[in-house]
Amino acid sequence: MSETPKLSNDCFALPEGVNWTPVAEALDTLRAGVRCVATPEVLPLVQAGGRILAETQIAKRSHPPYANSAMDGYGFAHASLGTGEQVLELVEGRSAAGDPYDGEVPAGMAIRILTGAMIPAGVDTVIMQEDVAREDTRIRFRSGLKAGANIRPAGEDMRAGQEVLAAGRVLQPQDLGLLASVGIDTVPVYRPLRVGVLSTGDELRQAGEDIAPHQIFDANRPMLLELVRRWGMEPVDLGHVRDDAARVKTVLDTAAGSADVVLTTGGASAGDEDHISAALRGAGALNLWRIALKPGRPLALGIWQGVPVFGLPGNPVAAMVCALIFARPYLLAMNGGGWVAPRALDLPAAFAKSKKPGRREYLRGRITGDGQVEVFRSEGSGRISGLSWADGLVELPDDTREIAEGDPVRFYPYSAFGL
Ligand code: AMP
Ligand code: MG
Repeated sequence: MSETPKLSNDCFALPEGVNWTPVAEALDTLRAGVRCVATPEVLPLVQAGGRILAETQIAKRSHPPYANSAMDGYGFAHASLGTGEQVLELVEGRSAAGDPYDGEVPAGMAIRILTGAMIPAGVDTVIMQEDVAREDTRIRFRSGLKAGANIRPAGEDMRAGQEVLAAGRVLQPQDLGLLASVGIDTVPVYRPLRVGVLSTGDELRQAGEDIAPHQIFDANRPMLLELVRRWGMEPVDLGHVRDDAARVKTVLDTAAGSADVVLTTGGASAGDEDHISAALRGAGALNLWRIALKPGRPLALGIWQGVPVFGLPGNPVAAMVCALIFARPYLLAMNGGGWVAPRALDLPAAFAKSKKPGRREYLRGRITGDGQVEVFRSEGSGRISGLSWADGLVELPDDTREIAEGDPVRFYPYSAFGL
């Protein structure tokens, strides 16, 4: 008879004899194995927001394309100024945005000029109207203005021929403005990756369905479908499958026909009803990881009929954390965005904690009014409310043991994960 095990009373303890995979090692493996499967298409700029740029973009035109005035005021040649109070006669006419002055402004004279207007010949300096006393056809002002004041030189922002955005960039609203300003009206972007989302478990019902006392509503599928949508990809709702080996295989067959990659939740460990890991094991190529991660632990990565399948944990908090940490960079790389690590802030901890070394932890965190980061009252990985309470994740490195209040900790706002 085998020995009765001792109580560990910590489901995230790292029992000896198990090969715990550090987060960094799992990420390295994922990175080494991923390839872009997305194909490019050309879209009008206004439809390209959120897509991933397939080719580096080069400015067709400089920005600004011509020297122009940064102010409403008066333009003149700086060299024609003397010392003391200045009095300049105005030429007839003016230069306005979209309505330039055709002539040349003679030395010793000034021209009325408006913001954004092209700088006429003979002008190299603009004085703002607030610094001027206007008298009919003349202006008066004090000397002291620098040559070139209030003029935006041609190409000061970007020059024609210059690289403006690199391939792999997820196009943001400001990028569309940038591209338009340098004359780009269509862009090659990758088609959205089709990401299948599947829930597993006999206990699951869909929100709105009749439910028995021993059943729960499927929280993971709405959450993951929306994550995928926020990442600019095409969510493919694969529904829910019972804990039944044959049905799991059938639904994976369907998934492989309709998605480029599949995210499943639940059934990823090595238990009696862990049919995802069993199916993927049966299909050959598989990393069945026990990740040294809290919350997280089981993470299965397999290939089903050529389609990568992420077997994420069933607990909603672990499912979300693993989706953000492991699935997101992999999916982005598949979609042509390259491998992008999220960027964190270092903030003082508003909490203290003792931690087991040898595993990484992600806590649900949020920034306090005074710029510290506090954590959710419970670390339970079923406590889905903490994900909504939080506005990001606190990362505690593998080997950390103690965190004291005020210690700097790494905080990833949800925006670091594209949310
Ligand atoms: P499993 O990984 O299948 O052992 O599931 C771990 C825990 O997560 C169990 O308590 C499940 O009931 C729960 N769970 C699994 N899938 C979901 C889901 N889609 N929504 C909410 N809870 C889930
Ligand atoms: Mg299950």
